[in-house]
Amino acid sequence: MGCISALGMAEPSNISKYCTGKMVYINVAVCLAVLLFVIGLSVGLSVNTFKGRDALDSTPLIDGHNDLPHNLYQKLSNNLSAFHFEKDLRNDVVWGSTVCSSCYTDLPRLIEGKVGGQFWVAYTACGSQYKDSVQLTLRQIDVIRRLIHRYPANLQLVTDAADIEVAWRSGKIASMIAVEGGHSLDSSLAILRLYYDLGVRYVTLTHTCNTPWADASTVNDGYVYNLTEFGQTIIHEMNRIGMLIDLSHVSHNVMKEVLAVTRAPIMFSHSSAFGVCGNYRNVPDDVLHAVKKNNGIVMVNFYSVFVNCNTSRNATMQDVVDHINYIRNLIGVDHVGIGGDYDGVNSMPEGLEDVSKYPDLFDRLYESREGEPTWTKEDLEKLAGRNFIRVFQAVESVRDSLSSEPPREDIIAGDELYIAQKNEGLNPGACQTAKEWNGVNVTDAEQKETRTKRHQA
Ligand SMILES: [Zn+2]
Repeated sequence: MGCISALGMAEPSNISKYCTGKMVYINVAVCLAVLLFVIGLSVGLSVNTFKGRDALDSTPLIDGHNDLPHNLYQKLSNNLSAFHFEKDLRNDVVWGSTVCSSCYTDLPRLIEGKVGGQFWVAYTACGSQYKDSVQLTLRQIDVIRRLIHRYPANLQLVTDAADIEVAWRSGKIASMIAVEGGHSLDSSLAILRLYYDLGVRYVTLTHTCNTPWADASTVNDGYVYNLTEFGQTIIHEMNRIGMLIDLSHVSHNVMKEVLAVTRAPIMFSHSSAFGVCGNYRNVPDDVLHAVKKNNGIVMVNFYSVFVNCNTSRNATMQDVVDHINYIRNLIGVDHVGIGGDYDGVNSMPEGLEDVSKYPDLFDRLYESREGEPTWTKEDLEKLAGRNFIRVFQAVESVRDSLSSEPPREDIIAGDELYIAQKNEGLNPGACQTAKEWNGVNVTDAEQKETRTKRHQA
C-alpha cells in the first residue's frame, strides 16, 4: 500500500485489499511524516535561496534619473553613430571609469543591473536660462528618442504607466523621458505642453538656478521668489496634462508650497534624506511627512556627497541603505524608490560603482541587519518599481479627471522676468523678442525688485 491510498486517493484495489487496519494507520503516519518533511524542506530551501535581487525578476526596477544623454552631448555632440551602447564600456578610452568620472552606463551593465525602467534625462545647464535653453533641451529630447529607436531590441519608449510593465515583460528597458530644470520651460506653458507631446513625463521644477517662478535648493532655508502665482499655474497645468512634478533640486520652501497646491502625487526623482545627511538637495522630515500625505515617492539618490556628509571617509552602499531605511521608517515602504543619478555626478559609493550594482543593493536590504526594518519580497518590489508605477497611475487619473478643463493660457508677467534676469546680472530682455517685453513697466519692475531684495535679506 502506498501513500496514495493511505491518504485516501485512488489506488488499484488488488494492492489495497491486502492492507489491514493497523497497516493503514502506520502507512498514514509514515506518509504524513514524509509529506511534511518534503514540504518543510522545500519551504526551507525557498527561504534560504531567495535573494533580494530576485524581487527584480517579479517587478521592473525603475530608476528615476540617469544623465547619460548629457554625457552624449558633452562627449559626442549627440552623435550616436560614435556611441557603442551595446558594448561594455568599463574600460573604453572615452567612456571608461579611469578617463570619465561621470560615466557609469552602458547596455550590458544595465542588463546586469536588472534595470527594467529608466528615466533618461534631458538636461541643459543653467547658463542657458533666458537664452537657448529650449533649443538645447529639444536637442536632448531628440537624442534620447534616437537612442531608444537605435536599440529596439533593448529599449522601448514608454509614455504611460501601464506600458512600463508591458515593455519590461517583453525583455526591454521601459525608457521614459524627463526634463531636468524649470529653466528648460522658459516660463512658458506652451513649451510645457509640447514637451509632453514629445513624450516627456516629468519635469524637475528647477536645477541649481532659480527660475522666475520657483527657487532652487541653493537658497537653503531662505527664499527669493519661492513658488510664485505663475509657479502655481505651472503646477496646475502639469496636473491637468498628466506631467509628473519632480521636486528634486527645488528649495525646501518650494517643496512645501508645491505639496500644498498639487492635486496629484509628486515625485523626487533623485533625492535622499536630509535627516541622515543635511545637504539641501535632500528632503527634510516635515516634507517627507507631506509626501506620505500626498501619496508621492522619494527616489533615493546615490551620489556620494548627498548620502554621506562625513567627509573623512568614503561613501558606501551602507549610506544608501541608511537613507532608504530612514525614509521607510519615517513614512512607510510605500513612498520610497530608486533614483541613482548615474552619469549626472562624479562620485558614487563603494559597492554602487555603476548601473550593474542595483541587485547587490537589493540583496543587502534583504539581509535586514540588526536595527534595520525587515524587507519582504513585496517590500522590495515596492521599492523597485511598484511605488513609482502607483504614483504614475495616480497622476494619470488626476489628468483624466481634469479632462474637461481647458488649457491654461496665462503668461508670466514681464516684470517678473525683468527682475529675475536682473538678479542674474543679465540685461533684461536683451535676447528676447517676445511681445510681452514691450509692455514691461520698468519703474514697477524696479520697485518689485527692491521688495524682492528685502525678502532675501
Ligand atoms: Zn540633478
